Amino acid sequence: MVDKQYVYFFGEGTRDMKKLLGGKGANLSEMTNIGLPVPPGFTITTETCILFNELGKKYPDGLEEQIDGNLKKLEDKMGMRFNDKENPLLVSVRSGAAVSMPGMMDTVLNLGLNDETVMTLIQKSGNERFGWDSYRRFIQMFGDVVMGVAHEKFEHAIHAKKTEKNAKVDTDLTANDLKELVDDYKKIIKDEKGTSFPQDPKTQLKMAIDAVFDSWNNKRAITYRNLNGIPHDLGTGVNVQTMVFGNMGNHSGTGVAFSRSPSTGENKEYGEYLINAQGEDVVAGTRTPQSISKLKDEMPAIYNQLMDIFKKLEIHYKDMQDMEFTFQEGRLFMLQTRTGKRTAAAALQVAVDMVNEGLIDKKTAVMRVEPAQIDQLLHKQLDKKAQGMAQLIAKGLPASPGGAVGMVVFHADDAVEEAKKGKKVILVRTETSPEDIEGMATAQGILTARGGMTSHAAVVARGMGKSCVAGCEEIRVFERKEYFTAKDIKVNKGDWITLDGSTGQVYLGQIPVVDAELSGNFGIFMKWVDEFRKLGVRANADTPKDSEVALKFGAAGIGLCRTEHMFFEASRIKAVRKMIVARNEKDRRDALMTLLPFQKQDFIEIFEVMQGLPVTIRLLDPPLHEFLPTDDSDIEELAKELGLEFDELKNTINSLHEINPMMGHRGCRLPITYPEILEMQTRAIIEASIELTKKGIIVKPEIMIPVVGIANEVKLLKGQIVEISDELIKKNNVKLEYKVGTMIEVPRACLIADEIAAEAEFFSFGTNDLTQLTFGFSRDDSGKFLPEYINKGILEKDPFATLDREGVGELVKLAVQRGRKTRSNLKIGICGEHGGDPASVEFCHIIGMDYVSCSPFRVPIARLAAAQAALRN
Ligand code: PEP
Ligand code: MG
Repeated sequence: MVDKQYVYFFGEGTRDMKKLLGGKGANLSEMTNIGLPVPPGFTITTETCILFNELGKKYPDGLEEQIDGNLKKLEDKMGMRFNDKENPLLVSVRSGAAVSMPGMMDTVLNLGLNDETVMTLIQKSGNERFGWDSYRRFIQMFGDVVMGVAHEKFEHAIHAKKTEKNAKVDTDLTANDLKELVDDYKKIIKDEKGTSFPQDPKTQLKMAIDAVFDSWNNKRAITYRNLNGIPHDLGTGVNVQTMVFGNMGNHSGTGVAFSRSPSTGENKEYGEYLINAQGEDVVAGTRTPQSISKLKDEMPAIYNQLMDIFKKLEIHYKDMQDMEFTFQEGRLFMLQTRTGKRTAAAALQVAVDMVNEGLIDKKTAVMRVEPAQIDQLLHKQLDKKAQGMAQLIAKGLPASPGGAVGMVVFHADDAVEEAKKGKKVILVRTETSPEDIEGMATAQGILTARGGMTSHAAVVARGMGKSCVAGCEEIRVFERKEYFTAKDIKVNKGDWITLDGSTGQVYLGQIPVVDAELSGNFGIFMKWVDEFRKLGVRANADTPKDSEVALKFGAAGIGLCRTEHMFFEASRIKAVRKMIVARNEKDRRDALMTLLPFQKQDFIEIFEVMQGLPVTIRLLDPPLHEFLPTDDSDIEELAKELGLEFDELKNTINSLHEINPMMGHRGCRLPITYPEILEMQTRAIIEASIELTKKGIIVKPEIMIPVVGIANEVKLLKGQIVEISDELIKKNNVKLEYKVGTMIEVPRACLIADEIAAEAEFFSFGTNDLTQLTFGFSRDDSGKFLPEYINKGILEKDPFATLDREGVGELVKLAVQRGRKTRSNLKIGICGEHGGDPASVEFCHIIGMDYVSCSPFRVPIARLAAAQAALRN
């Protein structure tokens, strides 16, 4: 039997093998294949990682031999060997999953160094300081990420050494200081772990590989996967690669660059580098790097070679690249390339530019922008006028655009806690690390004192579309004491600050935010989007103002107007309360008569805004308790107005109290008991339509009956609606078409959809209630237990956010089939929250709905998701 291939030498794989080799490994092979200068090495597959964890942290048969074989191949190719007296091989070990995952073990450099090889390294480089510095870095990284010693222990030791030697920065430490530090570090490991730092390179390698495999299941990685919807069974690859040194003196260096600006998309190289440094110095943000444009003056040959490679990679990959490189004594090496993460604005700019450059076609461009990214474009910006007058306290790097206002917190946990209480916070840190991800996700914005545009905080915030100011060196952060200073200003935990992530400015206090303005690219791009999508996109809007926003974002109508939301206003809620507590039909009719003109006027305005597009208006669906007064003083006031005794009214209210209002007297059950409510609403809708029709304005009202589960409910109510409507239309002698349909939000309605369709002219899936009733999860209380379901892997996603295809989705599918069997031209849409969720929109496309309806701000997201669904399926 042929052994399974667990290990691939660079060049044996291709870019298409991302799933097996991880993104980094696949691209290292690809770059090797197209002749770029890549230090040789090999990749252990992602499958191996999964096997290793399944086998209880043991190697599958044959793996050890394959690692040995590839190591030998590497040694032969380099003419170097582990532990060799003259030419010791040193390698880096890096994780690399199919998708970029900052939560995992990242990198161990200089592996292969020990008490002996360090001497050879010194001899060969003729640089004693370099040798000891490399060795102490290796022990520190190995101790931290492989052996699990807290990295502060090493930080303390180096800090103590600096104090002892009167050194200001790391580079002030001499070769001898660093040599002493090596001993200190070894002692730390021995004290902390009870075992010595391993001297044998093969043992080092095995431990490092195991640590990468292990890191797939560390807490940070799991959190990151949960936050980003990444499956847990992908595994990570391990890349073992010959070391090249960016810290071999002033002709060496290392950097990170993008082939275009990841912030604006401008077609101009973008990035940073550090002379005499190793990769982790750039990423960790411990030194603030130089802009790549400086390299042109400092090392023109390297710069030119880099620019050629950038171009070559872009043409090869047909996308913007994010690359890591190192130059050792004037010789350039590529260490990584991958698709560059970018802001939404940059994504649009790059997509539009690349189509214009002829590099990609429109379809590819449409697939390139993540629907969720559209959110960023719609993000708030600081009010410019107020900004001009606000107190600017510091300026850092504009790491991720958008305005953010919040109260300062210094720990990720606090950010999570405060956000849970509904507070807006800004997370302020010296620098961020992957542990902070959850806090970053919940904060309004992020401010860091250290780090460049490609530091952790910057990259992660950009990915999240979150406002971030990084590398703000004018501030000093005291995390433990919970304050930061900006010159002579002290900002404490709980104080308000405002960030402008687009300029890097930090302000004391709160600056008002204004809505985003969309660039010309947005219009161009969305036009392409609309060429490909099949699904219509409508909006859920209850007011003329919401309708305007919806129209601006390209909604093709209103898919849900929740009429009860029209009554939340103080002036109207009283009339609703009177209606609810009315003791007889006459009182109820009186109360309804005061509501009629309000409703009619609302409808007139919405119809006018929507300019002849369909508007679906749902009959009142309030869980009654939401409208009843609970305060004694409010009850007192209402009692006075109604001429009732306080106790009498209170009794009425008590009698209306429901144990389970979501399954109580709501939806169509209300007009079944109180037909006068339906009468008033139908009148308001039809009278408004008639009035506009008479003025020559086209209106397309669609009256929707909520929470139905029995065909006779629909039959009865539709009969009443049609009778009232037709009479009004006839009396006014106008030509007006209207439709009557139902929401489908009860499992029983799905099962008898064929019967319902006999009456209903359209279906709109209310998947909020349908999810609630299918799972038996209260939509109002699920926050108490659903997060645990996600954490424990019982559910992959919150079913109230992303439609559960297996359960709820099956019911929806069934209802679509049965409904269309009765009425082949039945118009079908969705108006639950899922209508704006990309994965759910895809489902709606697949099962052949006519449209989705979502909140106005999500309309562009839904349009894009619909286009991508059409292109993908
Ligand atoms: C639904 O249930 O999905 C729906 C849209 O109605 P509501 O959220 O108003 O109950
Ligand atoms: Mg509902």
